[in-house]
Parts: sequence; C-alpha cells; structure tokens
Amino acid sequence: MSNNSRVAAIEGWYTLEPQPHLIGSRCRACGTYFFPRLSSFCRNPACEGNAFDEVKLSRTGRIWSYTNACYPPPPPFVAPQPFVPFAIAAVELEAERMIVLGQVAAGIDVSKAFRLDTQLNYDARSGKLLEDRSLFAFKGSCYTLFLEVRELRLPPNSRRDYRFVVNLKDIGTLLDVNGSLDHIFGQ
Ligand SMILES: [Zn+2]
Repeated sequence: MSNNSRVAAIEGWYTLEPQPHLIGSRCRACGTYFFPRLSSFCRNPACEGNAFDEVKLSRTGRIWSYTNACYPPPPPFVAPQPFVPFAIAAVELEAERMIVLGQVAAGIDVSKAFRLDTQLNYDARSGKLLEDRSLFAFKGSCYTLFLEVRELRLPPNSRRDYRFVVNLKDIGTLLDVNGSLDHIFGQ
C-alpha cells in the first residue's frame, strides 16, 4: 500500500478526501439528518418518508458532552496493546444540529486536564431533586483549578453557592473562596 492510498476504517462512514466529511442521509420528505446513512425508512415518527439524499456532514461542531474511555470497548473496536485511555466526545454538528459520538484525536486525555463531575441528590419518595452539584477541575502543569457550583432546592432553603479553589503544586492552596451565586446573579 502506498502512502497515498487511504482506506476507510468503516466503509461508507466518511469520505476519503484530504479533508474528510462524515457521510449522512437527509430525508427528502422531512429534511431530518441521520448518521450513519439510512436507506430504509425515516426514523422521524411523524414522517413516512423512505427516500434519502446522501450528504456530507459538517466538519465542525460544538462539544456537547465528553468522557474518558478507561477500558477497551468490545469488538469490532480494535484496541491498541497495551491499551491507552482515550477521550470520547458527543459533538453537535454545526449545520445539522445533530449529535454524533466519536473518538477524540489521540493524545487528548480529558482525565488528566479537565474533569467535570455532576452529582444529583434525588428523593425517590417525593420525586424531587433536592440538590445538584457540579465540580469542574482543570489541572495545569503546576496548578489545579476547582470550581464547584451547588444548588440546593429545598424550599424555603433554595440557594446557589459556588466555591473556587486554586492549588499550586508543592505549595498548596493559594486561594479558596466561596459565596452565594444568588447575591451575584439574583434569585
Ligand atoms: Zn423524514
């Protein structure tokens, strides 16, 4: 195989141009986009269309969510040996506004740099969400930033708080501030 020949890892999922596009389908009846391609019937429950145009999907989008894959996915995924964790992102495509899931380019390890944890406290008996907490962490070469946002939803004790911490490597906590978001943004 010469260096110029390109072979799709999965046939028909993307074009083999120098700037590849994912290949999707657009329903001729309702205009909904699908990926991978569809050829049978439209999955939009309100549509009876069964004819599709093949379309090149947007090359850009917005990261909608992401996570770190810490163990090898099942076949047909071919995992390198030894396994190296990789990032998976759900991306909302710019023009189509559809969300596709894909592997992020090698070398971007979200487990090390970014972390976003969300914790929900839910009362199953009353069916109420009591509290939600989001913790965002960013680890730089010699510092770590934490931002925690907590929302308590127990009327009359409903409030939103934040805590922001800067830790310096080998030195410790440089800054640790907390306060009320209600005071900043209003109730
Ligand atoms: Zn349709």
